[in-house]
This record gives sequence, structure tokens and C-alpha cells, in this order.
Amino acid sequence: MRLSKYVMPLLREDSSDAQIVSHQLMLRSGMVRQTAAGIYAWMPLGLRVLDKIGQIVREEQDRAGAIEMLMPTIQPADLWRESGRYDAYGPEMLRIRDRHDRDMLFGPTAEEVITSLMRGSINSYRDLPRTLYNIQWKFRDEIRPRFGVMRGREFLMKDAYSFDLDIESARHSYNRMYVAYLRTFARMGLHAIPTKADPGPIGGDMSHEFILLANNGESDVFFHEEWEAGAQPQVPDFSDNDAIDAFVADRTQFYAATDEMHDPAMAAELGDKLKTARGIEVGHIFYFGTKYSESMGLKVQGPDGEVVTPQMGSYGVGVSRLAGAIIEASHDENGIIWPEAVAPFRVGIITIRASDAASCELAEQIYARLSDAGVDVLYDDRDERGGAKFAAMDLIGLPWQIIIGPKGVERGTVELKNRATGEREDLPLEELIARFV
Ligand code: ATP
Ligand code: MG
Repeated sequence: MRLSKYVMPLLREDSSDAQIVSHQLMLRSGMVRQTAAGIYAWMPLGLRVLDKIGQIVREEQDRAGAIEMLMPTIQPADLWRESGRYDAYGPEMLRIRDRHDRDMLFGPTAEEVITSLMRGSINSYRDLPRTLYNIQWKFRDEIRPRFGVMRGREFLMKDAYSFDLDIESARHSYNRMYVAYLRTFARMGLHAIPTKADPGPIGGDMSHEFILLANNGESDVFFHEEWEAGAQPQVPDFSDNDAIDAFVADRTQFYAATDEMHDPAMAAELGDKLKTARGIEVGHIFYFGTKYSESMGLKVQGPDGEVVTPQMGSYGVGVSRLAGAIIEASHDENGIIWPEAVAPFRVGIITIRASDAASCELAEQIYARLSDAGVDVLYDDRDERGGAKFAAMDLIGLPWQIIIGPKGVERGTVELKNRATGEREDLPLEELIARFV
């Protein structure tokens, strides 16, 4: 992409709308713009990040055996009347009436829809277990939308739903998601801790929130030092259910809870192994038994011809929240530092002097070769001062910067800068290309 032909509306100054650094940087780098309270447009640069995050989530869901589908954003109220949640949900639900006076709503989550869809789609124990997921916009009329996309009203969520014949099988499904989530966040360069979460009225131990440590997080987290970054064991592979179950059993021995579930007496036993921090909830996995299958009449035929009500669980990831959360965890005073896996472009090209024909010619050549090889590259070909280009590149946080100036051109080298470490190297053209291709 050529910056001269792109839309990346940078802001020079901090915005008074943003209280935390990730929101500030998303506005300043032109990733998002607010169109109404808690509702954001994803500008071109932001959309590239959102898509990359979504794609990692998708690949890890697929790897775990979950099946992708797409459910509508607008749902009929009648489904929620069946489950009994229509009145219970409260003012976070955006209620809509259509021209025929039918009650509709913008889905805050999709348990009712998926349960209704599975009636008639799965009929026998042979159709189980199954986990389905979708990555779709949700709306919750949050009382206090804040921190930009981290607590929006409209937000993108991956929500998965598991269906199993019995509780033991539901535990496998749950454990697979636990492992899938660790893999997902690790691929984004994040360390998210699975903390014990409120299991709701059915009780039990199958509810975890995944918390990313960050100073601006909304939750207080208390955890065993075993959960610190760096000390994490390899996650098992999905072909071996026993290994998955053993892994989760092993990990869940180590204390981790947010303030809501924190047990000070239990935590005190850890002595100086107890760590505390602030964190952001980026995912939640949850087993809820037959709450929806029972109330909505989802049944399958069991192996002996008996009627079985499937066990269910749901599994959310805050896809749009992650864009902010990653920045919260990875930035410096000059701007964003994208982990390679989610960067909007892998590399940026800058010419120090836009008026130097030889520099521009070399930049064009590098841009063409990298683009042709399928590398995501952003070429700042604007007629701007070098200083402004450097500041913009640092702000938008691409992992690599290729810097081309008259001196280097004379010597036959270009400079490669690593955004995260600030390290710079002078490389001959072919060596530079070989780094990316
Ligand atoms: P929170 O406690 O932060 O409100 P929640 O418990 O309501 O979250 P879930 O219903 O479990 O969240 O939703 C799954 C995931 O969706 C959350 O882990 C979070 O990452 C994301 N999420 C929830 N609400 C929002 C929101 N208002 N804006 C952006 N992402 C959200
Ligand atoms: Mg909420």
C-alpha cells in the first residue's frame, strides 16, 4: 500500500475523548473513529488488525475442532422468551421493533439462536460432540462505554457453543477450548492467565476468564507465580484428549482469580508466591449444562434409544477488545509496537528525503519486490519531511521499518529498524529482501 493513496487520518495531538493509552493511540494512528458513544468505525488500518486477530482466533478454533458458521446480528425476541431471558436481560439489551410490531433485538450473545438452530440439526448421539462458533458483531448497551474499543457498545466477539451427550464429554469440550485459548493468545504475543470465574447457579469448576495483565485493566488479578510469563509449559496437541485433560488438571491447580472470585484465605497460603496485578478480560469459557437445551427443548436420541438433553457450554473471545488490549500491553512513548502476528503491515518503507530521485527509485524497487512476494508493506511515498515520516511510522507501530537515504544509496545499503528494540542495521539490498521473502 502507498500511503499517498491510503486513508490513515493521523492525529498530531492527544484526544480529550481518550483516557487510556490504547484508546489514545488507536485514535492518533487513525485506526478507529467513534460514530456514537461506544460505537466505532474501523478505518482501513484498524480493520487490518481486526482481521488478523480474527484470523488467529479462527485458525485456533478450527484446530481445536470447532466449526465456523455465521449467525445474524438481529434476533427475534421470541427465542429469548423461550429461554426466559428476555425480561431477565435488562437494559444492556438493545430492543428493536420492526414494521409489523414484532419485538426484535440486536444480539448481545447467541445461546438462544444456536440452541434453536441445533433443534433439527442434531438428532442423535452420533451427532455429538459438536462445537460451533461464529465471529460476529454484538451489541450491549453498556451503562458506561469507555476505553475505546475495549468496552464498546457494539463489539466483535468470537462466540462458540459446545454440545455434548454427557458431563464427562462436556468437560473434554471445555478443556479443548481452554487449551485453544492459551494457544490463541500466545500467537498474538500475549500472556493471558485463565482465572477462576463465577460458574453461575449450576456451580462447579468449569468457568474461566482469560485475563491479560495490563496496568489499565479493569480487574484486579491474584495468581500463583507459576502463571508468570516465561514459566509457561508447552500446550498439548488436540489429537490426544487425555493429554488435554491432564494438562488442564495440572494448570488449574495453580491459584488464579480476579477480585470477584478471590479467596483471601486460600491465596494467603501461597505466601510470597502470590502475585497481584491489574488485567483485562479477553476471553471467557463457561459450562452451563442444560440451561438452554432444557428450556428450549433441544433433544437427541441416546445410544439406547433414550431421549437425552445435550450438555452445553459457551466460549467467548473479545476480538475487537483485543485490538486495544494488545496495544495496552505493547507500546512505548512513541506509539504502538505491534507483535508481528497482528500488525496491520509487516514492514514500512520511508525515504528520508522525498526530493532525492535515487532514494525514491530504490524505495519503489523494494516496494515492488516485497509486494510481489506477498509481504504486507506500507510505503510512505508522501512528499513530507523525514521527521514527520519517522514519527508516523513509530506511531503506527509496524514491526519493521526500511529507511532509505542518500548516504545509504551511495554506499549501496539501506537501513532496517526493528520497532520493538530500536535496533538498526545497514543491509545490502539483496540481504534486506531476503529478510522478508
Ligand atoms: P465484562 O465483564 O468485561 O463486561 P462479560 O463478562 O460481559 O465481560 P462475556 O459475556 O463473557 O463478557 O463476553 C465474552 C468476551 O467479550 C469478554 O471476555 C470480552 O473480551 C468481550 N466483551 C464483553 N463485553 C464487551 C464490550 N462491551 N466491549 C468489548 N468487548 C467486550
Ligand atoms: Mg459485560
